[in-house]
Amino acid sequence: MPDSSVIRGRFAPSPTGPLHFGSLVAALGSFLSAKSRGGQWLLRVEDLDTPRNVPGAEESLLACLESFGLSWDGPVTRQSERIPLYQAALERLLAAGQAYPCGCSRQDVAGLYPGTCRKGLPKGRETRSFRFKVNNLPICFKDELYGTLCQDLERQVGDFVVRRADGPFAYQLAVVVDDAAQGVTEVVRGADLLDSTPRQVALQAALGLPTPRYLHLPLVRTREGEKLSKQTGAAAVTPDAATLRAALAHLGQPAPPERLGNNLKLMIEYATEYFDYKRIKTDEIPATLAPAAV
Ligand code: GLU
Repeated sequence: MPDSSVIRGRFAPSPTGPLHFGSLVAALGSFLSAKSRGGQWLLRVEDLDTPRNVPGAEESLLACLESFGLSWDGPVTRQSERIPLYQAALERLLAAGQAYPCGCSRQDVAGLYPGTCRKGLPKGRETRSFRFKVNNLPICFKDELYGTLCQDLERQVGDFVVRRADGPFAYQLAVVVDDAAQGVTEVVRGADLLDSTPRQVALQAALGLPTPRYLHLPLVRTREGEKLSKQTGAAAVTPDAATLRAALAHLGQPAPPERLGNNLKLMIEYATEYFDYKRIKTDEIPATLAPAAV
């Protein structure tokens, strides 16, 4: 059992390309949040979506983090090496009647999944994927910056896939299993994942796992307003002082003094000492979530 008295954050990149400015912000924000409070920072490579993995991306991500002085605690973990844990979680959900085999293809399901296979596979259909059974109670969670947000999973998401038809376990399940197994106490990541959090909180409840502290960081956007990502042509970052300063500014943190020059290690030390998450700005709340009525 991981020691729950330790603050433990994590960065969980998918190895789909080199570190870009958006992923640097997520790495830096999660690092500073944990380290400024004397915690640990873990590195987990989320490589379950094998068709999207890019050869060499993991090595390049790790080398870039190290060059910035963002050193992680303990060994790097890889989701591809943890499949039995996800399988065990799926079996628990199935045994508890909280997940079910689904025989529908993606073409069968336009929009919200109508629950076709909830009461068993229709005749002549084989299991393709496994879905988590949602209910109509709102799922709420507290984000340090956004306050309490709620989502009606039944209306906004529907029964969602926990193991895909093409084999891999879904991100939503794997992330919940790993964060708990690794004793992660806080999840600090991009605001694009705000909308995934209620699904993760529902899975935690179903599996009897603790809910970590959540803090979602402002997204880095392209000039057209899209999330910066490999798909929107994000360039690899160069580990230099100007990039680190820009990432700190994006997080609303004070600029390291000029006397530190271009020394990345000293700049990270300074940023850790003066980190205050309350200076981080929020994005708009996604339309699929609603602030809890007070
Ligand atoms: N692997 C996810 C991504 O790269 C991040 C997951 C998370 O931080 O929960 O977008």
